[in-house]
Amino acid sequence: MKQRLAVLGSTGSIGTSTLDVVARHPERFEVFALSAATQVDLLLEQCARFRPRLAAMASASHARLLAEKLAQNSLPTQVLQAPEALELIASHEQIDTVMAAIVGAAGLAPCLAAARAGKRLLLANKEALVVGGEVFLEAVRAGGATLLPIDSEHSAIFQSLPEDPSTWTQRVEKIILTASGGPFRTRAPATLRDVTPEQACAHPNWSMGRKISVDSATMMNKALEVIEARYLFGLDPAQLEVVIHPQSIIHSMVQYRDTSVVAQLGTPDMRVPIAYGLSWPERVESGAAALDFRTLSAMTFEDVAEHGHAQRFPGLRLAWEALAAPRGTTAVLNAANEEAVAAFLARRIRFDQIYAVNRATLEAVVPAQPDTLAALLALDAQARRAAGQVIARLGA
Ligand code: NAD
Ligand code: MG
Repeated sequence: MKQRLAVLGSTGSIGTSTLDVVARHPERFEVFALSAATQVDLLLEQCARFRPRLAAMASASHARLLAEKLAQNSLPTQVLQAPEALELIASHEQIDTVMAAIVGAAGLAPCLAAARAGKRLLLANKEALVVGGEVFLEAVRAGGATLLPIDSEHSAIFQSLPEDPSTWTQRVEKIILTASGGPFRTRAPATLRDVTPEQACAHPNWSMGRKISVDSATMMNKALEVIEARYLFGLDPAQLEVVIHPQSIIHSMVQYRDTSVVAQLGTPDMRVPIAYGLSWPERVESGAAALDFRTLSAMTFEDVAEHGHAQRFPGLRLAWEALAAPRGTTAVLNAANEEAVAAFLARRIRFDQIYAVNRATLEAVVPAQPDTLAALLALDAQARRAAGQVIARLGA
């Protein structure tokens, strides 16, 4: 039987890489549904190529435009309008697997729907887990879903851990997440105030969406990933470490009680963790180039506490602070950061002010232990309003 897939966010960087892997294995995978926010023409092209039953767009006007173009091309795909459509698709009884490749908290509701419906849930959308936290995990347990990480670090950790999760706490000493350090790893911290959106989005090793590119430049991406690792692997936050590894060859590592370290290596190509998530526990061809150790010149590492990195990347430690604070604080941090990044990309605040927004919002909003989707969405909205006020003050 073919695995039936829904790809939420199919027009993005992860979405298109997913379809690239899927197209290599027509005998294994069938695309049942696709979704995008606004990119009508690319979604139309994907519909022509993969012939999904359903396609969703974020607004009524985009949905109408896509439906017209599908009809002009005699394509039978039925068009739905998000946001409700995303939950409908994610929990559709004819779907086995949901690739969650939407960016930001907008992906939380469909992720929860897929989790409750017991799907195989491939999670690229790290913000959904950072916002959802325990509520997300409870939905996975209650629905009997299979949650598989797509973030390259978490896929690496998952590949380096024993198969049986009940052994993890007893055997594992710590998890070491690698970070490239992004485009500003060697830049003088005092000059970060002059960074433009174009500079922030030019990552040395990975080609990604704009939001995660800015997060990589501030290292807030690594902060979100530390939180993601905490929820995915259940270890104590003190067991989560970050080391800078500029070449992005080691994607992360697990150190065991006996000091033995198991790591996953590869070229920086998201099709590897995507193919692993799609085929787990099997392995299929991903399209990525293999590492060539004869030409690999060096792998280097830097302490995040040295070389001025603490001044350059002050946002990183917010991960541990948020994890130590009341439940829901990671959702506040995520909302603040989404607003701050959007304001930076819109040239309303400076690059170095992203941290100021995140810090001030964490101080302004104390969550009341959200335990439902509605409570999480209300907290997310509250944090965005608080962040908006900080942004307005800074941008004035
Ligand atoms: P992207 O911006 O390239 O794509 C985002 C996709 O989501 C697009 O298809 C867009 O149409 C859709 N979308 C955006 N906002 C939406 C909304 N409000 N409602 C419905 N759909 C919406 O982003 P990306 O780089 O592909 O990243 C997607 C997710 O994967 C992010 O959470 C990111 O952190 C994570 N991730 C990405 C990479 C990478 O290499 N790109 C690596 C690891 C993790
Ligand atoms: Mg990552």
